[in-house]
Amino acid sequence: MFEKIVGHETITHHLEKEIVGDEMSHAYLFSGMDGIGKKKTAKEFAKALLCSDNEEKPCGHCPACIQIDHENHPDVKVIGAKTGETSIKISQVREMISDLSVKPYSGNWRIVIIDEAERMTPEAQNSLLKSLEEPLSYNIFILITSHPQSILPTIRSRCQSYHFQPLNSRKIKEILHRDTEFDSQLIDNAVLSSGGSPGMAYYLLENSEIREERVHYLREIYSLLRGNEIKVFSLAETLSKDKTTSQGTLEFLIHWFYQVGLLLDGHPLPDNAKPDQALVAFYKLLENEKNEAIIKTLFEMMATIQYNVNLRLQWEKCFIKIMRIQKG
Ligand SMILES: [Zn+2]
Repeated sequence: MFEKIVGHETITHHLEKEIVGDEMSHAYLFSGMDGIGKKKTAKEFAKALLCSDNEEKPCGHCPACIQIDHENHPDVKVIGAKTGETSIKISQVREMISDLSVKPYSGNWRIVIIDEAERMTPEAQNSLLKSLEEPLSYNIFILITSHPQSILPTIRSRCQSYHFQPLNSRKIKEILHRDTEFDSQLIDNAVLSSGGSPGMAYYLLENSEIREERVHYLREIYSLLRGNEIKVFSLAETLSKDKTTSQGTLEFLIHWFYQVGLLLDGHPLPDNAKPDQALVAFYKLLENEKNEAIIKTLFEMMATIQYNVNLRLQWEKCFIKIMRIQKG
């Protein structure tokens, strides 16, 4: 049923069981980093319910499947922040809710996918909460988010949660070799800097300057770990330009130090991948406990930047802490 989804087997297995047994929840929360396959899974889920093929659901080529792919199926609503807007407004949620009381147009189900659900304003979230509290039998909500902590606990508690883990590099390579024409070397490099997200790897392939930027950050952080204090400030300055870059870089760094941790623990890298030179350099520089403390610091930074903080100051604090950890 979810053959198109690479990885996330535990999740798709559960979802398939629910669909086959007709035991779906009224609301789901799909969390996990950007570009990892959450929305794709949500769409496959919708297709499995609405596909008009009698034998294989989803077939991928009936009108319903095609409409869902193109996000113009009448019973699959996809809402997100409008172009040029940073938040999902209460007016969008109200409009969506007013459509929900009408029975589905083509079948038994209506699926509402809220993309980047953390962008809903508190008012929008409260307005959605009412629909979740009194669900109509044919409506299924799927909230997609990379920051579940920004969703009201009252909403989260009404959703069945699935957390999407980063994919291992072999799986990402599989996707990229299948879907793109890039050569192996470029794909390997992009995967290494992708933080386990196929969407990010793809983005890096398309945007070589960001790929180079990440290699640059690694060099700078390596230098910082070796005691080059000035890097604290230059890195903080570059990284504080905007929140999105900060988040993406943080996810990448967390994944990076996680891989260093695998080496330090004596574990092979996922799929016995050969560690690249940069990774080995970090491995030689760090000790296990320190590496773990660095990862913890990066996670704290991740939590901090959810709020309206002075990014530059927070990055400085973060890097100073990392430098102190390394100094011991
Ligand atoms: Zn179909």
